[in-house]
Amino acid sequence: MKVAVERAENYQIENVDRAINNAVDFIGGWEKYIKKGDKVLIKPNLLTAALPQKAVTTHPEVVRSLIKAVKKLGAKPFVADSPGVSNVKKTAEKTGILQVCQEEETPFIFWEKSKIYPCREGKFVKHFELADTISDFDKIISVAKMKTHVFMGVTGAVKNLFGCIVGTNKARFHLRMQKHADFAHVMVDLYYTVKPTLNIIDGISGMEGQGPMSGDIVNPKLVIVSEDGFAADLVMADKMGFNAENMPIAAAAIEEQRSVHLKDIEVVGSGKDIKFAFKRPHTYESMQDTYVPKFILKLGQNQLTSKPVINKNCIGCRRCEYHCPPKAINIKERRAVIDYHKCIRCYCCQELCEHQAVDLKDGWILALLKKLGIYKV
Ligand code: SF4
Ligand code: SF4
Repeated sequence: MKVAVERAENYQIENVDRAINNAVDFIGGWEKYIKKGDKVLIKPNLLTAALPQKAVTTHPEVVRSLIKAVKKLGAKPFVADSPGVSNVKKTAEKTGILQVCQEEETPFIFWEKSKIYPCREGKFVKHFELADTISDFDKIISVAKMKTHVFMGVTGAVKNLFGCIVGTNKARFHLRMQKHADFAHVMVDLYYTVKPTLNIIDGISGMEGQGPMSGDIVNPKLVIVSEDGFAADLVMADKMGFNAENMPIAAAAIEEQRSVHLKDIEVVGSGKDIKFAFKRPHTYESMQDTYVPKFILKLGQNQLTSKPVINKNCIGCRRCEYHCPPKAINIKERRAVIDYHKCIRCYCCQELCEHQAVDLKDGWILALLKKLGIYKV
């Protein structure tokens, strides 16, 4: 299994083109993946309506570069996503993706309807309700962003496919799969349902710390490309300085023998030897998936987990209230208030708050165990 890592100094289109095309050449060349006449879906990460320089979403110049490459092969590109929160059109506009699509005369598909897709190879899920038009395409390119993630450690090529679940339907998965490992296994099934042909990670800018939305911007200046999303994510997490095989999705895929090990990946390209030390998300070590019995976790949830805490930045916009899967948030006196008995620690509120108004604070037992290093990650 090969993963190509190419350097790109910035988002000038010549640099982006060079990095992506060199990387694809390293793994066999565009012709190996896309044929003349193919309908190709480019699926960026459009988490929310954020400006490109915020490093929350896939940069529009990366999408432009892919549109051009697909066209050059005589294939027909399309771009689509369904953000977890904000309105699709507003998100496509603010992230700069809609403008690039217009300039390149490429359709942007507003995913708003779902249909059932069987997941024949699924080990945890036998079908998914995904965007209705996914099956219209011959090839799919997942174009993720290199970011930390408070629930999954990192978010890359595989987690990017969560956007194929339309809008707020995503919350149902958080409700059903509250443990990190369970959610991760479902992401593995999702990957095998969508089956992207190519996986590209925009790491020219990225995010460390409390990603995927409230972290700090970093500039790794890298593009990562592979035909295997798990391999691309393993290399990405390794470059970030994390224990790549212990990230929940990687661990789930390796356990199911659906991902190679990091040691079996041949990393090629001008960025193959570069490594960083990204700040870890606060929740990097998870109590929910350790040896602690469930009933103890339930009894001592406040002490044994990181809990979301609303800070003074809250303006009572209701976004978290609307998206909290178990409806544990209410707005009182223009401020979010969390009912910790209902809270399932999915951290969607922290992920989605545009005002950095949600901090994550360790319970005292968790803080103590972290100090003692009693963790598997
Ligand atoms: S915590 Fe954030 S998302 Fe929730 S109401 Fe306050 S500002 Fe809005
Ligand atoms: S309060 Fe936040 S962490 Fe708790 S369940 Fe709601 S969205 Fe998830």
